[in-house]
Amino acid sequence: MTRQRSVVVIGAGHNGLACAAYLARAGLKVLVLEAAAQPGGAAVTREFAPGFRVSAVAHLLNLLDPVVVKDLALAQHGLAYAREGLRTVALSAEQPPLSFSAGEIYAGNVSAEERAALRAYTGRMQKFAHVIARQHGRVPPRLRFESWRDALPAAAVALDIRRLGRRGMQEFLRVATMNIFDVLEEHFTHPQLKAALALDAVLGTRLGPRSGNTVYASLYRQSGSVNGRPGALALPRGGMGVVSAALAAAAMVAGAQLRCAARVAGILVQDGRAAGVRLLSGEEILADVVVSNADPKTTLLQLLGARHLEAEFARRVHQVRAVGTAAKLHLALGGPPQFRGLSPEQLGERLVIAPDLDYIERAFNPAKYGEYSGQPVMEITVPSIHDASLAPAGSHVLSAVVQYAPYDLKGGWPAGKAGFQATVMAVLERHAPGIGGLVRHAELLTPYDIEQQFGIAGGHWHHGELALDRFMMLRPVVGAAQYAMPLDGLYLCGAGCHPGGGVMGSAGRNAARVILGKR
Ligand SMILES: Cc1cc2nc3c(=O)[nH]c(=O)nc-3n(C[C@H](O)[C@H](O)[C@H](O)COP(=O)(O)OP(=O)(O)OC[C@H]3O[C@@H](n4cnc5c(N)ncnc54)[C@H](O)[C@@H]3O)c2cc1C
Repeated sequence: MTRQRSVVVIGAGHNGLACAAYLARAGLKVLVLEAAAQPGGAAVTREFAPGFRVSAVAHLLNLLDPVVVKDLALAQHGLAYAREGLRTVALSAEQPPLSFSAGEIYAGNVSAEERAALRAYTGRMQKFAHVIARQHGRVPPRLRFESWRDALPAAAVALDIRRLGRRGMQEFLRVATMNIFDVLEEHFTHPQLKAALALDAVLGTRLGPRSGNTVYASLYRQSGSVNGRPGALALPRGGMGVVSAALAAAAMVAGAQLRCAARVAGILVQDGRAAGVRLLSGEEILADVVVSNADPKTTLLQLLGARHLEAEFARRVHQVRAVGTAAKLHLALGGPPQFRGLSPEQLGERLVIAPDLDYIERAFNPAKYGEYSGQPVMEITVPSIHDASLAPAGSHVLSAVVQYAPYDLKGGWPAGKAGFQATVMAVLERHAPGIGGLVRHAELLTPYDIEQQFGIAGGHWHHGELALDRFMMLRPVVGAAQYAMPLDGLYLCGAGCHPGGGVMGSAGRNAARVILGKR
């Protein structure tokens, strides 16, 4: 009889849960240890005022891995959508709202030429995004080939690019390293349209439209699909926590165990390999394999400790850029807010405040110097329009990602938070006059709060900047890109690994495949 391999997973974020589910299904003895009182990490639904519930960090689903959805039967475990195919509605204080989705304009003063340009641009970018999407479910290739088998994953990537055809390939290679500002200037003149498209390239990053890596970030954002619709956006019924609850159920059904309120204080090392974990309570749990869903810096520099790492490797981990810039605003509203020029139907769409490219760049500028934006950009949803379970009858919940709010704010967030919240409310008031009077309760989570409450270093969306120098076999760092760490028996499975952040489950699935030897 062979002994069952035991695994401890540090963290029940959605990736940790996906990893646990795959490992338990393969017959391993899996225990998931979560610091918080409930599973889900940054993909969680929380009550933030009596009767008002909201997706506490991530709020829009666009990247969830369809293979994970199918393999783990997430629909049978409760995953359903309150709304699929949300349109983006760009707000402006001077112009009527501009509404578009999947390359089609639904409202706004847009010429026939510009509409055709949007269709062509969206089609081309979706082909490029598909190249990136094909990499999500793959373990990144190694930079050093020891056998012909090692070369196969790299050849597969090259083939995906080659499939674009000669002209497509040339264009892909041309734009991939450009900034989104220059690319959009090549295609469009409409300020609101350019800005709404650019916002997707900077959300969750420490970048402005003129920064390098923004075309890559934009393609990454478009690389997902919902129910087979590329680039679509959805609101899970019951908030983002439903995704994590479905993954937790899949893991439990497969035999994994979950302990919440169990913070890991350190990773145990014996005979030069990971041997288990020590909880904050002092309890020690031994395991054959330790998998961490915590971000790379937290896992390797805090829980393991640099003394167990080779100096050059520790230096690389230290250099992972994890300075979050996205804050989250939640408003419990006594009634539906009225945005200028917006019809009641449009209130349920994805609303963006980013009127032109320079507005976004100016919003970014202060963040470079440790200051928050005086005129922030926002991505707003009012999910209670589609999902009555989130607010008492007649009331509503507003959920907004707000940038730029740099983690490393001069003077610190405890002192700066009230000022930023007032700034954000003033911007909202300009677009939705009277909204302040509807507010029954407000919650602002700065990157500092996200770090404190969700255990993510720097409160960073992707557990570390997502960029071409932190992509595939370079993510999180060279020497750790295939989920196995230099210390035997230790693996990473979270957003800091390939393919990155967003609610996807791919990193969890890929890590499980490596642990199971199914590369
Ligand atoms: C403001 C903001 C808005 C976002 N909006 C979106 C969005 O709309 N759509 C989208 O797809 N993505 C969004 N994201 C990104 C998304 O939330 C994350 O990339 C994703 O949730 C990461 O999942 P994960 O499972 O890899 O890690 P996490 O969700 O961070 O989970 C890690 C888990 O490990 C636990 N943990 C950490 N340390 C320990 C320890 N020592 N002991 C035990 N447990 C520990 C944590 O408590 C946590 O539960 C947003 C991110 C931010 C910051």
